[in-house]
Amino acid sequence: MSEPASTSRLGPRSVIGILGSGQLGKMLAQAAGRLGFRTHVYGDDAGPAFDVASAHSVGSFTSLARLDEFAANVDVVTYEFENVPVVAAEHLAKTVPVLPGPKALAVSQDRQVEKTFIRGIGIPVAPFMGLASAADVTAAEAAMAAWSGPAILKTARLGYDGKGQLPVATPADVASAWRDLGSVPCVLEQRLAFACEISVLAVRSLDGAVATFDIPRNEHSGGILRRSIVPSGLPAPLEAEARSLAGRIATALDYVGVLAVEMFYLGPDAATPLVVNEIAPRVHNSGHWTMDACVVCQFEAHIRAVAGWPLGDLSRHSNAEMRNLIGREVDEWPRLATAPGTCLHLYGKREARDGRKMGHVNVLSPRSPD
Ligand code: ATP
Ligand code: MG
Repeated sequence: MSEPASTSRLGPRSVIGILGSGQLGKMLAQAAGRLGFRTHVYGDDAGPAFDVASAHSVGSFTSLARLDEFAANVDVVTYEFENVPVVAAEHLAKTVPVLPGPKALAVSQDRQVEKTFIRGIGIPVAPFMGLASAADVTAAEAAMAAWSGPAILKTARLGYDGKGQLPVATPADVASAWRDLGSVPCVLEQRLAFACEISVLAVRSLDGAVATFDIPRNEHSGGILRRSIVPSGLPAPLEAEARSLAGRIATALDYVGVLAVEMFYLGPDAATPLVVNEIAPRVHNSGHWTMDACVVCQFEAHIRAVAGWPLGDLSRHSNAEMRNLIGREVDEWPRLATAPGTCLHLYGKREARDGRKMGHVNVLSPRSPD
């Protein structure tokens, strides 16, 4: 077997390979372009990233022959979504550096593995229980009764934007919720009464340095992110603790690139005020405000990290509120294009389906004193 490929600092005109053709891939490719890199996007369909990449390929993530052709044309491979098959990442890693490494994918693709990993390094997560087969239902009902209060059942794999989740009001509802999710492996977790949601965008460089962006407070509705607001308004010591938790996760994964860590803040009186909800081994929607409010944004920071560069200055020069444009909300773009302090980002997707992220705005104001 060949040695895993290694990376050193990539120079201008090197080719960054990006798996996934969505809006995150597009914004990664744009950031790479600013630094003089070329990009090659590999997607299973022609998404928005194809509009800006230097080159693109359509291929399945299970076609090793297509992936080999892609690998031969790039200097490093990264990805914009966490469901890249681990076997594909491991295969590519034999010939070209894949960053973040396949371990981050394996951990974040399965909620049970992810929560077990995070808890295992001493970081609080919501009480949870895996539900893999009918034989686990009774134990899950008993676990829920012991936590008290409502729960949420989530498919272990392939959930996003709240899809693959059902509320569970009482232990007696566990069995029907599991059936309604298709009787696939799931995680049942206690529904936490949080004060607010935040996320930490951490970046780890090839030499192991960790930096974090300022912390946004995130508002969801229907399981989908609506707004991210910076500064969060949370006390500085709490934010410092949140940054430290994210850094510990990045280091434990031997991570390279941007890692998003979603957290619940349970309020000052909770035994564990901060609880990690989930991680995403990629740039993240709750970091889009960095594009206009920071010196180096999350997309550039990720590209710098996977190219072996120093991370640069992640500091924030403005207050920012990021609002997603979901579905037909994108039709408001002519008004948003003239709104004061408003940076408009449209992904250029052809069809504005319900629940689809079509763009976002970053509304800036002067940075308030710390
Ligand atoms: P995304 O891809 O948008 O991050 P997702 O589908 O992976 O979402 P989660 O992040 O687990 O799913 O959940 C989506 C939202 O549902 C959370 O941001 C939060 O608002 C709510 N939620 C999830 N788990 C819990 C919980 N245990 N207690 C309370 N609220 C929760
Ligand atoms: Mg989430």
